Formats: sequence, C-alpha cells, structure tokens
Amino acid sequence: MSSTRTDFGEEAGEIRRFWRGLGLPGLIDVHTHFMPERVLHKVWDYFDANGPLIAGLQWPITYRKQEAERTGLLREFGVRAFTSMLYPHKPGMARWLNGWAADFARRTPDCLHTATLYPEPDADTYVREAVEAGARVFKAHVQVGAYDPADEQLEQTWGLLAEAGIPVVVHCGSGPAPGKHTGPEPIARVLARHPKLRLIVAHMGMPEYEEFLDLAERYDQVRLDTTMTFTDFAEGFMPFPDRALPRLAAMGDRILLGSDFPNIPYPYLHQLHALERLGLGRDWLRAVCHDNAVNLFGL
Ligand SMILES: [Zn+2]
Repeated sequence: MSSTRTDFGEEAGEIRRFWRGLGLPGLIDVHTHFMPERVLHKVWDYFDANGPLIAGLQWPITYRKQEAERTGLLREFGVRAFTSMLYPHKPGMARWLNGWAADFARRTPDCLHTATLYPEPDADTYVREAVEAGARVFKAHVQVGAYDPADEQLEQTWGLLAEAGIPVVVHCGSGPAPGKHTGPEPIARVLARHPKLRLIVAHMGMPEYEEFLDLAERYDQVRLDTTMTFTDFAEGFMPFPDRALPRLAAMGDRILLGSDFPNIPYPYLHQLHALERLGLGRDWLRAVCHDNAVNLFGL
C-alpha cells in the first residue's frame, strides 16, 4: 500500500543508506514479532496499559499496522530475512502457535520458520514435529512464560534442539522487569547440561549484560541479540556498562541484530544508529547487522 510509503518512506531511505554505506546487501533481523492477530493485539493492549512485565513504562508501538503492511515495511527497510517470534504465556498454547508460524513462514518466504515451546508433557512431541516441518529458529520467553527453563519437562527438548543445531532466541534476562526464573542462573543450569545448545540471549541479557557475556564467553554456541539494547529508551533505565564494551568488540562474531519490530517505542532506524554510535567499527557492524546471521542460518 502506498500509505506505508508516505508514512515511513523517508525512514526506509535512511535505513537503506545505512546498510549500503556498510557495503551490505541488506539487514538480517533475528528478533521481530509476528503472531496471530488476536494475540498480537493482546500484546499491544498490554503495552498500552503499561503492565508490570514492561515495568509500567510508556511504550507507544511505532508500527501498529496490519500484517501485510508490517512485512512490506521490513522489505522496504531492506531486511532480507527476519523471524516471527511468538511465545505462549500458559500451557496448551505452543502447538497452536507453531501451526500458525509454519503457515506464516509458508506464505512469507523471507521469514525464517519460527517455533516456540513451553514446559508441558507434549513439548518434546510438538518441538520434534516443528523441527521436522522445517523450523529454523525457536523462541523461548522465560519472563512472560514464567517458567524455569531448566524444568525437567524441557530436558529432552533442549537436547533435541542442541543436537539439531537449531538456534533458540531466549528472553531470560530480567528486563524490562524481572520474572521468577529470569537472570543468568536458571539458563546456566540448562547450558551446563547442554553446552552445545545454540542459545541467542535476547536483549543482550538486559540488564544482566555482563553475566550473560560471561556465559557467552564460557559456551561458544551462545550468542546475543541486540534487541532494544543501546537505544535511548533502554539506556534510560537499564544502561549497558561502558566497561563491557571491549567484551562486545571481542564477541563481534556472536552478536546478532534484533529489533523487536513492530513493538518498539521509537523508529527502527534508531536501533541501527544505537549500534553505530558504540564506535566498534565498520567490520563489527557488518558482522552484527548481516554476516553473523548469514553464517548461523546458512542464508
Ligand atoms: Zn521481543
């Protein structure tokens, strides 16, 4: 629709100038949200109501659009591949979400087929089914799901995903508000049992940035996504410590661009500028914004 062009055309132009300036063919964003409309609207209602899981913050959704407009926008921005992060907040929901995500991936070729999980008796079965159906990335939301990631009911599931080498984006940090099982300790118990699990720690582990860098330094298959981190918004309440910047530089091959599109209270471009102003250089930005995801997903 031309309406998106008039609304966001200028921003799209600036985003394209950003990746062209780095000599990249586009961006890859490992952390974008697409889910059944009814669920997404509930998420938006939650942000509108400044609920406790978002620490009561003012959180106006910048890209509150119909699904086709949202995928159209990512294409205008030059995002070559993205995900459909979705997650259950209770038992009995993951299988249904996975069915929706498989269909979304079928009709959205630039979306990496995404699936999710929850500790429940049939988790092994539906995760195996999703893998057989071609899922390339999983999302686990420890904060919203309020479960222990080291729950016994996920033991075989983590093993299966580790063996298959399928990345799992996991929101396990205690930002924007802590949950019963957030923080580095519960997920560290999972890694102790499954050291080859390809975890992508969402939001760089905000606000426990350094503890999650510790984990990434200990386990070579642990990665981190940039989602919301370093933006003015996140820096305002959970700033990334300057002293950890050299560790970010050294970890440049395991940090992946994530944005939280469309659920962000600022323009997409701001996430890119927030990465650029870290001053870690052009090679670092190229790897983070594109090449690391190409290598991880074989794109
Ligand atoms: Zn997210």
